Amino acid sequence: MEPISLSQYERVVFFTGAGMSAESGVPTYRGRGGIWAQYRWEEYACQDAFDADPDKVLAFHQQRRGRVLACQPHAGHSHLAALQGAHPGLSIVTQNTDGMHQRASARDVVELHGSLWRLRCARHGRIEDLAAAEYARRACAECGATLRPDITWFADSVNAAVFARAQRLIEQAQLFVAVGTSGIVYPAAGLVPLAARGSARMIEINPDQTELSGLFAEHVREPAGTAVPRLFKY
Ligand SMILES: [Zn+2]
Repeated sequence: MEPISLSQYERVVFFTGAGMSAESGVPTYRGRGGIWAQYRWEEYACQDAFDADPDKVLAFHQQRRGRVLACQPHAGHSHLAALQGAHPGLSIVTQNTDGMHQRASARDVVELHGSLWRLRCARHGRIEDLAAAEYARRACAECGATLRPDITWFADSVNAAVFARAQRLIEQAQLFVAVGTSGIVYPAAGLVPLAARGSARMIEINPDQTELSGLFAEHVREPAGTAVPRLFKY
């Protein structure tokens, strides 16, 4: 594929998934060798587990955060952030909760599954941004409930406002680039078909074929760390 000048597209969406972070060494949650192959999510990643033992669940997620902080954004993250800085119509929609895009200086990232760097009140959604401060029991300033990680757990619904924003951006996109996403996790998995129903140019960057590959007209079978800097210019 020839390098693409993004300035010819008014609205561009980069949709990123676990593969983007895995290239930086961030452990993945699903699939062979993933976190859920080693830990029972029923004990660590659902509201019931948190209600039963918040300290255990917070400690588990604190460990995940430590692993993420030990990893560095790669050239694909950095290049994407630079492109965003040059192109006001470029949006980053991610399934990742690790904040790697932001560490590479991306801004206003649409985080479909929330962020490991925030806590929230399960009762009324009040959010507290901790940045890198350690997860510990914190009480909601309004209702006193123990704040939980602001990420989408099993059996959680996604944040409706965030999801609606992602839908809107994707419907309006003239260029849609999926990077390192297997597409199997709903409701995020519904967003690629949504892009395909419109008139966007559809590009998949992934070393492997995925279940959604058929929805893309163009496929780049290489890692994001090399493909993104090589293929996209402002
Ligand atoms: Zn509250």
